[in-house]
Amino acid sequence: MEKNFFVGVDIGGTKVAAGLVNGVGEIASQARVPMVSTSSAADGLQAVLAAIARVIPDHGAQVAGIGICAPGPLDPKTGIILNPPNVPCWRNFPLAESVQKLHSVPVKVDNDANAAALAEARWGAARGYKQVFYATIGTGIGTGIVFDGTIYHGRTGSAGEGGHVSIDYHGPLCRCGKPGCIEILASGTAITQRARDRVSAGEKSCMLELVGGNINAITGEIVAQASAAGDPLAKKILGEASEMLSVWLSNMIDLLDPDVIVIGGGAAALYQPFFDQIRERVAKITLNPRAMEVPIVSARYGADSGIAGGAALCA
Ligand SMILES: [Zn+2]
Repeated sequence: MEKNFFVGVDIGGTKVAAGLVNGVGEIASQARVPMVSTSSAADGLQAVLAAIARVIPDHGAQVAGIGICAPGPLDPKTGIILNPPNVPCWRNFPLAESVQKLHSVPVKVDNDANAAALAEARWGAARGYKQVFYATIGTGIGTGIVFDGTIYHGRTGSAGEGGHVSIDYHGPLCRCGKPGCIEILASGTAITQRARDRVSAGEKSCMLELVGGNINAITGEIVAQASAAGDPLAKKILGEASEMLSVWLSNMIDLLDPDVIVIGGGAAALYQPFFDQIRERVAKITLNPRAMEVPIVSARYGADSGIAGGAALCA
């Protein structure tokens, strides 16, 4: 029987999601199980195997490979999970090898942004492009670089951490220790925090009414909602963040000269109304004289990007 399905696995600190993905990147079925990340290494592995078992069909379609998105740091060459803060049960844990012992198919491991970039390049918004820069904007900012259908890993597998490229030497300190990383300035978390701070400081905004006076209930969605309704403060916050994103994206274009830029992640929707503004600004400040030709597009995969990404690793 033809093996034309792939299993994509997305490991988080509290859950493991797995999906059966076909040869054109459609997710045929998926399942979630709780992740026991603070228990033993074996318990953590058991959760991954349980999720995989839930989506591998007993009959019919055969599986050609299993790809796993896991929290870093990890070694994509060996499939070893090094010492991820989000999954403390694994220290130098041979994840790919452990899964391969039970399923005699190729098993690949990578971080979620790299894998999601590959899924976009293979099946999604970047299909048909050779040089792809992908950014996922959510609680943080993750990025992946794909050249000619292959993830760019660098020397040790640590390349592609574009979220920790700084645009401001005097900026706030990022969790990585660097000042002014784009992640600390323009992630969904950063936008939410800035909105809460400014409303707390007494700046007038309809955001306060939208959350019934509870400043801590202001979320990215509330900022987007207020901005769409014409609220000046919300518009200003998203406009400033878009400006920061433009500077950063122009850095990425000057460094990589990609064929396409794909933006995904839970907070990407916040920026969607500003995409035209970002495109114009990027074209204006980039050294590359043909920067305006680089499409900046929305990702195909949303919450399923980890599953699709995992599958793409072995497709
Ligand atoms: Zn950083």
